[in-house]
Amino acid sequence: MPRLRAVAPVKDITTDMKLRITKKHITRFFKRLGLAVIGLFILFLLLNLIFPLKDKVEYSTIITDKNGEVINAFLTRDEKWRMKTELNEISPLLRKTIIAKEDKYFYSHPGVNLFAVIRAAFKNIFRMRRTSGASTITMQVARALEPRKRNIGSKMIEMFRAFQLEWKYSKHEILQMYLNLVPYGGNLEGVKSASLLYFSKNPDHLSLAEITALSIIPNRPSSLVMGKNNDLIVQERNRWLKKFAGDKIFTEKEIEDALAEPLTATRNTVPHFAKHLSNKLFKKGDYAYKTHLDLNTQLKTEKIVEDYIRAQRLRNINNASVVIIDNKTHKVISYVGSANFNDTTDAGQVNGAAAVRQPGSTLKPLLFALCMDEGFVTPKLMMNDIAVNYNGYAPENYDQKYNGYVTAEFALEHSLNIPAVKELKMLGKDKLVQKLSACDFKQIERDKYKLGLSMILGGCGTTLEELTGLFSAFANEGTYISPSYSDKDGLHKKVNVVSPEAAFMINDILSKVNRPDFPLNWQSTERMPKIAWKTGTSYGRRDAWSIGYNKKYTVGVWVGNFSGIGVPDLSGSNTATPLLFKIFNTIDYDSDEEWFTQPKDCETRMVCSETGLVPADHCHHLIMDYFIPLISSTAKCNNIQEVLISADEKISYCKNCAPQAGYKKKTYKITETEMQAWFEENRIAYQKIPAHNPDCDIIFKGNAPAITSPANGSEYLISKKNKEPLQLTCKTSSDVSKVYWYIDNKFYKGCSPGEKQFFVPTEGPVKISCTDDKGRNRDVKIMVRYVNL
Ligand SMILES: [Zn+2]
Ligand SMILES: [Zn+2]
Repeated sequence: MPRLRAVAPVKDITTDMKLRITKKHITRFFKRLGLAVIGLFILFLLLNLIFPLKDKVEYSTIITDKNGEVINAFLTRDEKWRMKTELNEISPLLRKTIIAKEDKYFYSHPGVNLFAVIRAAFKNIFRMRRTSGASTITMQVARALEPRKRNIGSKMIEMFRAFQLEWKYSKHEILQMYLNLVPYGGNLEGVKSASLLYFSKNPDHLSLAEITALSIIPNRPSSLVMGKNNDLIVQERNRWLKKFAGDKIFTEKEIEDALAEPLTATRNTVPHFAKHLSNKLFKKGDYAYKTHLDLNTQLKTEKIVEDYIRAQRLRNINNASVVIIDNKTHKVISYVGSANFNDTTDAGQVNGAAAVRQPGSTLKPLLFALCMDEGFVTPKLMMNDIAVNYNGYAPENYDQKYNGYVTAEFALEHSLNIPAVKELKMLGKDKLVQKLSACDFKQIERDKYKLGLSMILGGCGTTLEELTGLFSAFANEGTYISPSYSDKDGLHKKVNVVSPEAAFMINDILSKVNRPDFPLNWQSTERMPKIAWKTGTSYGRRDAWSIGYNKKYTVGVWVGNFSGIGVPDLSGSNTATPLLFKIFNTIDYDSDEEWFTQPKDCETRMVCSETGLVPADHCHHLIMDYFIPLISSTAKCNNIQEVLISADEKISYCKNCAPQAGYKKKTYKITETEMQAWFEENRIAYQKIPAHNPDCDIIFKGNAPAITSPANGSEYLISKKNKEPLQLTCKTSSDVSKVYWYIDNKFYKGCSPGEKQFFVPTEGPVKISCTDDKGRNRDVKIMVRYVNL
């Protein structure tokens, strides 16, 4: 009994113990497993840090047109066509087919398909041969990123890399990488390059048959060559399609259609359109640029430019560039850098649209508009077009002639230089420079401290791109919006260049057809859309410009030689404008002729036709003119003055010297001293006020200007080789606002009393006179000798 009693408890204890051990073991096993997993995970993170993914991929740069069609592409540095497929180009069909063929469990495995690995390992051991098939899409990406010899070691590394990829990227991104890196024979990598070069379409437009055909090439790239072994590819393709049918991935109809589809693919060449713009964008370094080019318009423009220049070559004019901006979207829709990119004799690969050249007169419309906004210019304002000299700078007109009195609009239409220089002097050169800098004129911004008054005549550096952008502001109510060359240009920069009112007045002046720079021999104006345009010709006739616009487009044209050689026949009106017209006739042939409407703050008023100023009582000839209320000058016409004269009309008096009786009042048309000189030189009659009373104390005995340089009675030696000018300066009483210089009784210049003037005297005795605005005069006499120094 005691034995029995003793046995029973022992038995109980063992079962209990066994139970306890099993429970303990299981918990311990799971704890250990957990620890192992955590350990492996920490190890993975550690290795991930030590051996980071080498996932930098260099893609071919592709340039697309406004519809997203590839129009140009550039090889990678390792000479591959590796074009990036964007996520939106991976169609559901493409994704479904690739996954069905390559990696059915892609969306459920962590980068490595453990089941497939074990199965492959068994097969390898028992059949003693290696099979691939355990490679997931992720592992194939890993292999494409770091190609290695195929062995067990590489496989292990690939698996590790696959985990890293899954850790870092989403399934979508990994599939995208696969589609970008998979080799398709030759130097083609990625489905985008393949679909483009074999099927001439983007990957999202591929059919099931095409995708399947493409997807078998990576398996045997050397024997399955598109265009060469198409029959073999179709065989293999159909084998896969039938397999898909068995797997019930696609409908019967889909498979049937795909099986029936012929394969006509051959290896195409990469398109190379719009080369100058493509090169310009490629240099910026991104891999994809969607331009705003309409390929049809681009090719037409290129053809017009090429044909036009072919006809100009006899005159030694060998190149041209064109930029076209859509004024509503501010997008560059056409861009031609040279007459023919492939022409090596005339440096066709040079991009003339981006080259810095002298702009001739093309900046004048901006200057006139700025002066309108300052209030001192209106279209009918009378200006003096006669010789001037600013500290030795004496601009001349294009034809070396002066026109005397001209209206501002005449001056702009005829592109007169003197009124432009005078306006720039009044406006201040810095204001013009600031506006141009704000409108992205790079060279002008760089040279801003060096530029002088001559910049308005072309003495500065600009590009066709910049000028075309600036002119588009006139079509956009005076607001400059930086032109966009591609989708990468991002937000547009906005600059209020001139007011809508000034822009409207400029548009009105520049759209008149009856003007001197209308091209000779141009007849086909019938269907020509209405445009505003400005021409320019640079010094030495090296550059011919014509930039035109209407509501729809701004077209910039440059014609010249990249060698910089000037050509006597070259001019903005006769060389560049015909090309501008041809382009407008092509891109805007059936235009609705819609023109700019007069802004509400631009009003009309009657002005005196002789001065362009608000009429006074004496003004009889009035004309209509535009003006900006509260901005434009409201100065009254003052060209008629009442003068006291003697009965015989030989002497004039001031209030101080007029006799008690024996005088009469007469009105005279006032002619400024500088204009009097010009009239006399050109033998044009004008109304002269009789000489002032010689007995007048005020005029002749008062404070006449004191000439401080040159010194009276001195002898000046001037080097024959280097004729340095003499300085003219004077001191006047404080009531004087203008003085007039005369050399040997001939009017030389008018200026403010403090302003220095310069002149180069002739040899021998020279008389220099200075008269102030009150008529007080002083003379000095000097002797000039020319010597060999
Ligand atoms: Zn008047
Ligand atoms: Zn007097």
